[in-house]
Amino acid sequence: MIEVVRIAALQDNYIWMAHDDASGATVVIDPAEAQPVLDEAARRGWTIDQIWNTHWHGDHTGGNAAIKAATGCTITGPAAEADKIPTLDVLVDEGDTAQLGAIAAQVLAVPAHTAGHIAYHLPAAGIAFVGDTLFAMGCGRLFEGTAAQMWANMQRLAALPPETLVYCAHEYTLSNARFAIVAEPDNRAVAARLAAVEAARSRGEATVPTTIADERATNPFMRAGSAEELGRRRAAKDAF
Ligand SMILES: [Zn+2]
Repeated sequence: MIEVVRIAALQDNYIWMAHDDASGATVVIDPAEAQPVLDEAARRGWTIDQIWNTHWHGDHTGGNAAIKAATGCTITGPAAEADKIPTLDVLVDEGDTAQLGAIAAQVLAVPAHTAGHIAYHLPAAGIAFVGDTLFAMGCGRLFEGTAAQMWANMQRLAALPPETLVYCAHEYTLSNARFAIVAEPDNRAVAARLAAVEAARSRGEATVPTTIADERATNPFMRAGSAEELGRRRAAKDAF
């Protein structure tokens, strides 16, 4: 069994900490900062063995050095961004595998938000850590890539098993949902999810993780019929 813990950080970041009961191994995904992660691990009696980074942005790597100093953990991240993440120990790319105990994580190259962005898919656990590529009802901004790349990423993630739990790195769902109903005004699943997200956020509840099934039904970027349509929707969301 893999247990995944949500640690809220900075303005709207989620740091995920995953613990494998069988081996006792613990990995932190995209630590924006160190102290709340170290505190949560200590509270649970978990020893952090690893950090996995999805991309170089500071709100995903800012805690790397301090967590490594405190725990001696090994840091794995995108080979294509090694020059921008000086704390990396293990460089991975498409087709590589990271291990959490006996559980394998397949590394998927999903460039667009950044040029070397990767995701970690753990098929045996039915979970994926997607950083800033896929959000609940949204996708990452195209800082270092193209709409065609992001569209390919969406198709690829859409093909994962529908029940896969998707751990995104930000709580952006309410804004995304308000855009989604404009992009797809006739989509009843979007309308229902918008209402559910508004209610959850008004209660202060998190809306992540999501699932591939929910994204296929309500995410206007995953549902875009072409790279061009994704690009138009992304530009409209940037100005929304
Ligand atoms: Zn980012």
